[in-house]
Amino acid sequence: MKTAVIGAGIAGLAAAVRLAVAGHTVDVYETNAGPGGKLNQFSLPGGYRFDFGPSLFTMPQYVDELFTLAGEDPRDHFNYTRLPEVCRYWWPDGTRFTAPASTEDLVRQVAQTFDVPEQAMRDFMDTAARKYTLTGRTFLEKSLHKVSTWLDPQVAYAMLKIPGLDLFRSMHDVHEAALGDPRLVQLFDRFATYNGSNPYKAPGLLSMIPHFEHHFGAYLPAGGMYDIARSVHALGERLGVRYHFGTRVEQILLPSPMERGRGRGQAGSRVQGIQVNGEEVAYDTVVCNMDVWLAYDRLLSGAKRPAITLKQQKSSSAVIFYWGIDRSFPELGLHNIFFSKDYAREFASLEGGTLSDDVTVYVNISSKYVPEDAPAGHENWFVMVNAPAHTGHDWDTLVAALRQQIIAMLSAQLAPSADTPDWLARHITAERIVTPPDIESLTGSHQGALYGSSSNGRMAAFLRHPNFSRRIDGLYFLGGSVHPGGGLPLCLLSARIVADLVADANKSATKHAP
Ligand code: FAD
Repeated sequence: MKTAVIGAGIAGLAAAVRLAVAGHTVDVYETNAGPGGKLNQFSLPGGYRFDFGPSLFTMPQYVDELFTLAGEDPRDHFNYTRLPEVCRYWWPDGTRFTAPASTEDLVRQVAQTFDVPEQAMRDFMDTAARKYTLTGRTFLEKSLHKVSTWLDPQVAYAMLKIPGLDLFRSMHDVHEAALGDPRLVQLFDRFATYNGSNPYKAPGLLSMIPHFEHHFGAYLPAGGMYDIARSVHALGERLGVRYHFGTRVEQILLPSPMERGRGRGQAGSRVQGIQVNGEEVAYDTVVCNMDVWLAYDRLLSGAKRPAITLKQQKSSSAVIFYWGIDRSFPELGLHNIFFSKDYAREFASLEGGTLSDDVTVYVNISSKYVPEDAPAGHENWFVMVNAPAHTGHDWDTLVAALRQQIIAMLSAQLAPSADTPDWLARHITAERIVTPPDIESLTGSHQGALYGSSSNGRMAAFLRHPNFSRRIDGLYFLGGSVHPGGGLPLCLLSARIVADLVADANKSATKHAP
């Protein structure tokens, strides 16, 4: 089987490994000069290294699994640390809370800091665990668009339990009812942003997300997040995958409209290959890791567009300031959140397509764990603010105001007795700023969305594009813009689902061969 993978994002890299292990001859085509997509890295003058995108790593077993599949010991090639704490939270009223790693410690320490009884907190985390147990395997690990999934008894069981899954209440309402204390509600509401959603609109089912972090743990690869892309790419090379970097795929070659009209499973309905550098290259299978909206727009212009799916609201994007800082801050950890005063107003602004004048700021400092990421006594700050997907904003103006706002807010929190609101600015020795249109152009993500489409709605999970084409045999889709969604763990699961679908299709083709 000759297979082309379009895009070397984490899902494309993982699928290439899985398909090579299954015996395919695999070519990966990537526009950028190297692997990773959003999971990338770069340096700034002065000795600072930064991870470009993801900073939170959960479910490392999905990466390990790739090495094991290939008959290798993951620890020989890819290592990571389980974090002893998950995140340091700061509120404008002076409250601070460091979320510990385990659920049990979290339950205890929340009750000591906030106005919430220990039992209420324990019940909340138990419910999160139950939601994951009921739906995880069903809705995240399988294609939602195959009859076989719906015939699984586990799915039938999950469907019976739907009333307890909080599909009909928003995450925020669930948190308010269960936890009450507005600071804690804000803390748990934030988990909606893990897939670029709005806690006031996303279904309460998503309150299972903290279970991932506190039960399964939060991790950091030994050399920073980019180690994930680097090591999976190297694994693919050892398996004989051929990578074509700096090579943009121009078209996915489809059967003629008449042949396509016969539908999947009929002679002549199979994908033909791809066009690169103006030349047609034949493939039996094409796996598309490119943002699905752009794939239909640019590579599948002759195909029927799944209109409702492609119309789904985009996930949020981000403005990121990468700062080399000339001193260290012991009061900060790897992950730090500085909350806004009014979360509802902040999300209302995002929904309205703009930035609030009071934003929540995420500061990630990988040099806390990877000392080589900054010179001694310095730190590398990744400072991120949620932003609306790009629809033609004037980012220069927005970013100038935002930078001032963030510096004033962080200066007030970190140096309350400083004589000037731009105290922090004096400590910035290197800087790069990335806006939604930059994310769009650097990672091929429609409107710069970080996670494909948002989960702002009960039906969002069902409206994501399937992992296969409904009309063309041999054409598959994976990555953050399709089922099961954005974020590294789900992208890795999409690669597993696609490899399983390809294997099933090949098995059934062999069975029906004359
Ligand atoms: P992508 O990374 O989207 O890559 C797709 C690749 O396809 C790109 O490299 C692109 O160049 C290539 N491509 C596109 N068109 C073509 C073409 N025609 N020909 C060839 N190649 C093409 N997730 C987490 O789990 N934790 C986090 O903390 C986190 N934080 C994030 C912060 C930021 C700033 C960003 C941007 C994302 C973050 N995410 C996080 C989300 C996560 O990065 C993504 O969900 C995931 O990396 C997407 O992977 P993907 O496989 O969909 O491919």
